Amino acid sequence: MKPLRPSVLDPLFAPATALSGVGPKLAKALDRLLGDETHAARVTDLLFHLPTGAIDRRPSESIAEAPIGEVATFSAQVTEHRPAPPTKAKAPYRVIVEDETGDVTLVFFHADVRHLLQTLPIGAYRIISGKLELWDGMRQMVHPDRILDPKLAATLPSVEPVYGLTEGIGGRVMARIAAGAAERCPELPEWQDPAFLTRHDFVPFRDAIHALHHPVDLKAATGETVARRRIAFDELLASQIALALVRRQQKKAAGRATAGDGALRHAIETALPFTLTDGQRKAIADIHDDMEKPERMLRLLQGDVGSGKTVVALMAMAAAAEARRQSVLMAPTEILARQHAERLAPLADKAGLKLALLTGREKGAGRRQVLEGLANGEIDIVVGTHALFQEGVAFHDLALAVVDEQHRFGVHQRLLLGAKGEAVDILVMTATPIPRTLALTWFGDMDVSILSEKPAGRKPITTRAISLERYDEVVGAVGRALDAGAQVYWVCPLVQESDTLDVAAAQERFEALQAIFGDKVGLLHGQMPGRDKDAAMAAFSRGQTRVLVSTTVIEVGVDVPNASVMVIEHAERFGLAQLHQLRGRIGRGSAASTCLLLYKGPLGQVAEARLTIMRESEDGFRIAEEDLRLRGEGEVLGTRQSGSPDWRIARPEIDGDLLAAARDDARLLIERDPQLETPRGQAIRTLLYLFERDVAIRLLRAG
Ligand code: ADP
Ligand code: MG
Repeated sequence: MKPLRPSVLDPLFAPATALSGVGPKLAKALDRLLGDETHAARVTDLLFHLPTGAIDRRPSESIAEAPIGEVATFSAQVTEHRPAPPTKAKAPYRVIVEDETGDVTLVFFHADVRHLLQTLPIGAYRIISGKLELWDGMRQMVHPDRILDPKLAATLPSVEPVYGLTEGIGGRVMARIAAGAAERCPELPEWQDPAFLTRHDFVPFRDAIHALHHPVDLKAATGETVARRRIAFDELLASQIALALVRRQQKKAAGRATAGDGALRHAIETALPFTLTDGQRKAIADIHDDMEKPERMLRLLQGDVGSGKTVVALMAMAAAAEARRQSVLMAPTEILARQHAERLAPLADKAGLKLALLTGREKGAGRRQVLEGLANGEIDIVVGTHALFQEGVAFHDLALAVVDEQHRFGVHQRLLLGAKGEAVDILVMTATPIPRTLALTWFGDMDVSILSEKPAGRKPITTRAISLERYDEVVGAVGRALDAGAQVYWVCPLVQESDTLDVAAAQERFEALQAIFGDKVGLLHGQMPGRDKDAAMAAFSRGQTRVLVSTTVIEVGVDVPNASVMVIEHAERFGLAQLHQLRGRIGRGSAASTCLLLYKGPLGQVAEARLTIMRESEDGFRIAEEDLRLRGEGEVLGTRQSGSPDWRIARPEIDGDLLAAARDDARLLIERDPQLETPRGQAIRTLLYLFERDVAIRLLRAG
């Protein structure tokens, strides 16, 4: 009855340690780079860890012709060893190589002299490859990447793929294990329509993967190639099939009508310190209409940061409670879950609703009590992180699940949610404005409500870009803002994607500002124990601390209306969407707000463009479209920079035509072969397993 993973895929789902040369130490580094909470790095993760660029190692004719300032490869004779003078122990060890056109000084710090004498014996010819530079008018190369005996010239690939790396894995090792993974990829049944393959000149999956890991030229490693498009199309087809299956399931699964009398909603509305905007009213009405129908609701509430989505969620949950049914509100972070619970509790209270908080941190008797309350129906609303849903908490009668800030969750989890509950209405709230090109694909299966206006009385935010060199002036301005009664967020960036360095930077800034402003300054970062995080957030929320130095943990959803100044340090390191999210933390109260983007110059073109857009616009929609445009053109494209958190290979901005084709193909296929039983259907199953569309697999198993 169950379609199990086809055994042809077994080699790909083996742990990375199955590859030759991957021992426990390397495996650990790979886990950090490619694994996640649920699994260690596997062969398949390496298969899809595509090169982000390539190094050209084609040899130059002579030293004179070798390019300066780039990676150069040439052949030369070793003529001299120049050890560091005994008086200068830290000076580098130098080796001179030359041909008839010139010489190059190879420079080695902390040299292993015995090793150098072995690899570069005087008189021998060697192929040398590495970054060639001019130093005082002389050619030099610090630590060549490659030193080869000419006999082994054939082993040096002329174009070498470059991969995303992490501590403990060098470029060469990564290239070797990625090639090993590609080697291990078996021939798979063809899941694509043969006519389509021919039309696009697509080679089989295995060949495409092989080509991607063995680029023949620079373009093949980074840009548009038929091989990458083929894999992108496979991925798009897998995700579109999953969507088609979910859609079909949703049509099958009847929902339940949840109809209330409006009494609780009325009570909450009266208790609100503001009047609802028209957009909020309309969204609440849409949601209520959906809930009243016997079909299941699957609605997306889209509204820029600060547009007031939370109260819409509360009204929806109140409507469920009017029908004596329960709701759950899921937040992407612990901090946000707590904040929601704190904000909503007084309002819920006034309406006589019982609201509880449940996250991984609620333990012991408190937790048991909440679980009991949920099981016996005493609790109307539970707020938590999404772990809550996964831990199999039992409800008395769950009517509605609200998912906040879902861009952190990813489409995949949303689908999981949709496939999970029996007739549970689902409301997804997102602040990420989704450009038109993507909207259909991401949310093709959902109805949409949009909050287009911000609550009245918001003042525009003044955004300025300031060089970090003017740090002292910025601190002065912060001081004046504090004197005027404002509260300030000070955000420190991710340092090279490393948690520890990241935290160190925030810690350091915290201490520096504390030295000036004393105990008005608080600190918040991801590595603090949960309780300390709460305390730091609460102190800032109460106004006890006036400056909150933090890492990007405050990016999503945090709401302290009195905070009207935001300083973002190293703004050039952030993406546009992230800057917009961060800035959305201010401009929430009645005071005029200021956002200072501190950058370290010189700025690259893309970074400069980002900061300019931030200064010019507060419109999340425009920012999102610019973001897509910049990412498409500007950056070296990594495998995980695709527009959807669900896609590793496909890039919607350039694969738009494939996306449309995949959608049509998927719909037709599921219509004709709903259980994937035809020969092509069987191959499609392999595709779904390969791209781990668990939702689709689960639906197929359920029959
Ligand atoms: P987001 O859409 O980013 O989740 P929130 O729901 O956190 O926004 O709301 C942002 C702030 O705006 C909150 O302080 C909230 O109380 C306030 N707010 C929401 N709706 C209104 C309204 N209609 N008028 C005034 N303030 C509002
Ligand atoms: Mg929010």
